[in-house]
Amino acid sequence: MINPNWKTETLVIQGGYRPKATEPRIVPITQSTTYKYEKADHIASLFDLDCADHMYTRISNPTWAAFEAKMAQLEGGVGALATSSGQAAIAMAILNICSSGQHIVSASTLYGGTHALFHNTFSKMGIGFTSVDPDASIEEIKAKFTPETRLLYAESIGNPGLNVLDFEKFATVARQMQVPLIIDNTFPTPYLCNPLTLGANIVVHSATKYIDGHATSVGGVIIDGGTFEWSADKYPEMTEPDPSYHGLRFTEKFGATAYIVKARVQLLRDLGMCLGPMNAFMFNHGLETLHVRMERHCSNALQIAKFLEQHPKVSWVSYPGLQSHPSYPLSCKYLPKGGGGVLTFGIKGGIDAGRRFMEATQLIAMVVHVGDVRSCVLHPASTTHRQLSPEEQLASGVLPDLIRLSVGIEHIDDIIADIEQALAKS
Ligand SMILES: *Cc1c(COP(=O)(O)O)cnc(C)c1O
Repeated sequence: MINPNWKTETLVIQGGYRPKATEPRIVPITQSTTYKYEKADHIASLFDLDCADHMYTRISNPTWAAFEAKMAQLEGGVGALATSSGQAAIAMAILNICSSGQHIVSASTLYGGTHALFHNTFSKMGIGFTSVDPDASIEEIKAKFTPETRLLYAESIGNPGLNVLDFEKFATVARQMQVPLIIDNTFPTPYLCNPLTLGANIVVHSATKYIDGHATSVGGVIIDGGTFEWSADKYPEMTEPDPSYHGLRFTEKFGATAYIVKARVQLLRDLGMCLGPMNAFMFNHGLETLHVRMERHCSNALQIAKFLEQHPKVSWVSYPGLQSHPSYPLSCKYLPKGGGGVLTFGIKGGIDAGRRFMEATQLIAMVVHVGDVRSCVLHPASTTHRQLSPEEQLASGVLPDLIRLSVGIEHIDDIIADIEQALAKS
């Protein structure tokens, strides 16, 4: 059994899967689409949701179940749902409680994929989206709400500004407006920050980043805090009969786990954005070293941020663990173990210097990714955001001189030496 007093460092290793005598010590990869039964009634009870055994790997699978249980333990939730990607986790976390004609309020500082999902795809589906400056006051954030708003959304560390969320403020707004607060906790991971203890109701992750940690697999996860009171007027799908399950009412039947059960048995069943068993195995494996990796990612990133701040070819550095960062007080409050592994900086000489720097790095690889044990670099203005006009680039926070570093866990001296020689060629 899981000891409720175990700390994160123990849960990342021992959580989720506890084998009995003679069972495999390591979570097996259950590469099977389906499961065998002895009695017809058993299958009927699965379809009626009277029994939670595995039925079909679009809905559940033992390898993901171990990953889900570990993530729920790490975030302090009542349940979790593994998904095929971080994007799938975000989409399903929202579609589970928000449909056509309804509305989302979100912090404006968002991962590009999330912004595209809200701005383009959700709007085509009839779901409205209003973004708000995360520095706005409680009253200003509340003013963005309409009677149809069904949730408040933010990232614990925003992208690309690396702003740390004022959890107290956002949790207060969500509570007063009686909607759940959904937090993307990808950048800090459950090792650095646990949003459910800070007033969030639901957490999503791109497991592709630090949870995997080795750039092998795409996947995501939703964790349900089980704390939100679903009211019948705003969330009838949670409280009223579901015709696809003979009139079952999720809140009545599943209590605190209603939200996450519904996400699995309705949305995952219907949309099929499920994780592969092999990827769940990789995430279980990655999690086992999350604490040691994150410690080194944070200490390397802080040392590099300080090094860059002193460098004559660098005009600015943004890292939440630096005293010069506007989020430093929030970082001290919410990220006491470290500011994460991602930092951005401005290179003197603008867009051309940025491209030259990126092409001159040798140890640090040019990659469209973060959260890997290997150091990675990206100059968005000449690569991922090149199609945008200069105005659009600025609006999405991509300055022409901005370089993003996802600091790996190699020896600090070697990373700094590579940055130094690449800056010399920029
Ligand atoms: C990468 C990322 C996502 C999307 O996750 P995928 O696994 O790539 O689908 C969402 N949010 C944040 C903060 C991310 O970094």
